[in-house]
Amino acid sequence: MYEARYDAAGHLAGLEPLVPEAPKAIRRRIVENLPPPLLKPIVPFLQTVHDRAAVEIQRGCRQGCRFCQAGMIYRPTRERTPAEVVEATGQLLQNTGYDELSLLSLSTTDHSQIVPIIDALNATFPELKISIPSTRVDSFSVDVANAVAKGKKHTLTLAPEAGSQRLRNAVNKLVSDADLLGAAENAFERGWTGIKMYFMVGLPTETMDDVEGIVRWASR
Ligand code: SF4
Repeated sequence: MYEARYDAAGHLAGLEPLVPEAPKAIRRRIVENLPPPLLKPIVPFLQTVHDRAAVEIQRGCRQGCRFCQAGMIYRPTRERTPAEVVEATGQLLQNTGYDELSLLSLSTTDHSQIVPIIDALNATFPELKISIPSTRVDSFSVDVANAVAKGKKHTLTLAPEAGSQRLRNAVNKLVSDADLLGAAENAFERGWTGIKMYFMVGLPTETMDDVEGIVRWASR
């Protein structure tokens, strides 16, 4: 119902309504409570990536990383309660036959009740394998990853995003050197054997020193 106009440089110059019922300014609407979780997903009959049940435990993200579209457009943060997650998991396992569950959200260890959720799942479904997509960079998150690992510990995924404190501050990724070293120390002490780290190159204001900082970090 709209047509976008662009200037010579390709930047958005305006949005024109094409029909009378389309308002010129579009007001954003927010669903205050998360809609019910998906309980009867299609179960593929060949092996797929992420071949497991999934419950969205939170929408939105408490962090405000400046490069992150999802963190901005899915505001505000809305959470599911531990009871809702357990109820949804029970039905999903029954409906799909999966024995593995992913706790989905933009930043799962930022859920204010992530520990009660994992405790409740472990108590209700002792055989269930739980997976957490990626972990916030701090010691608490390693504790959470540890609680779901149940003895099988290979690689922990952390996302410091930039190789220097200056650049992490610039993109509002509030991770300090101490957080990163603390997380690594905690992980290795608890028996993890590898750490995978996500970094980006090409961030605004980046210098070669910031890029080389990634290599220095990996060595440390
Ligand atoms: S923590 Fe992750 S999801 Fe949240 S704003 Fe930062 S990059 Fe985006």
